[in-house]
Amino acid sequence: MIIIMEKNATEKQIKSVCTHLENLGFRINLNHGEVYTVIAALGDKRLIQPQSISSLEGVKEVKIIQEPFKLASRETKEEDTVIEFPNGLKIGGNERPVIMAGPCSVEREIDGLLEVAYAAKEMGAKVLRGGAFKPRTSPYDFQGMEEKGLQYLAEAREKTGLLVVTEVMDTLDLPLVMEYADIIQIGARNMQNFKLLKAVGKCRKPVMLKRGGAASIREFLLAAEHILANGNEQVILCERGVKGFDSTYTRNVLDIAAVPLIKKLSHLPIIVDPSHGTGKRFLIEPMSKAALVAGAHGIMMEVHHDPDRAYSDGAQSLSIPQFREVMTNLNKLIGRIDYANKHLCSI
Ligand code: PEP
Ligand code: MN
Repeated sequence: MIIIMEKNATEKQIKSVCTHLENLGFRINLNHGEVYTVIAALGDKRLIQPQSISSLEGVKEVKIIQEPFKLASRETKEEDTVIEFPNGLKIGGNERPVIMAGPCSVEREIDGLLEVAYAAKEMGAKVLRGGAFKPRTSPYDFQGMEEKGLQYLAEAREKTGLLVVTEVMDTLDLPLVMEYADIIQIGARNMQNFKLLKAVGKCRKPVMLKRGGAASIREFLLAAEHILANGNEQVILCERGVKGFDSTYTRNVLDIAAVPLIKKLSHLPIIVDPSHGTGKRFLIEPMSKAALVAGAHGIMMEVHHDPDRAYSDGAQSLSIPQFREVMTNLNKLIGRIDYANKHLCSI
């Protein structure tokens, strides 16, 4: 249930409504919007008659949220969530879409990672990606460099000023990953690892949550809800494709419609990963363009200094020259999109 307060509701009236609801056993989430203050009351709505709240002083309207994801819902928070980083970078809302680029895994020596990081910086990417803990289908495949990989990422950040996004696979590794990451990535395979979601929900760092390979949009938003409900409001969603019936040519089916749909259902930023979404490097540029036109707040793509020798996902990684070319074209497109026009992109 959400309670929309009158424009001129006083702090005292807001507080009194919150206390009343808390006494009835609801958890409160307060959102001071540009015009209205909205109180989200989380709990069993059978405990209460909405009319008994509408009559409280300063209350404009009481609405029962139909969606199961309450805090992630646009009904609860109308304005877009914009995540702001200490270096001034913003992700979400009408901000310029953010490009995240880097190898699938951090591997071997640091030089390759640095080469990619310098190119990423030069071409206008703002975030360096790279897995130090790798979820691999086979136990015999490269599993990641762990802390050494995190140290390489930190060194690349130091040298380029790019922020770092990297995956955490387990609550046990969370304190370590927190030391190094600017954005904590929850991978597709862990989208419904509720213990991990709860743990990152208690962190005070932005989380990038990837959509599970077989997750519905509802399950995706409910996974985000677990993070929000544990107190972390800084969630970036990432569409990375879902399993389809035809994997002859592509790894997954990239759900571009998820972008405008999620923007309608939720205030959270949504980015798109065309590398995992398709499994093919030649599809990165067209799918990135489609995602940006559909309103994505960013793109995450895999780039490797020597894709043919990559320890993981070489086929869906751009080489550095290819990345430069793709970025040149994406930057042109980004310059032509009117991001102030939230739900409709006019080009
Ligand atoms: C990744 O981005 O490193 C990754 C493993 O992707 P996903 O979780 O989407 O498979
Ligand atoms: Mn990968």
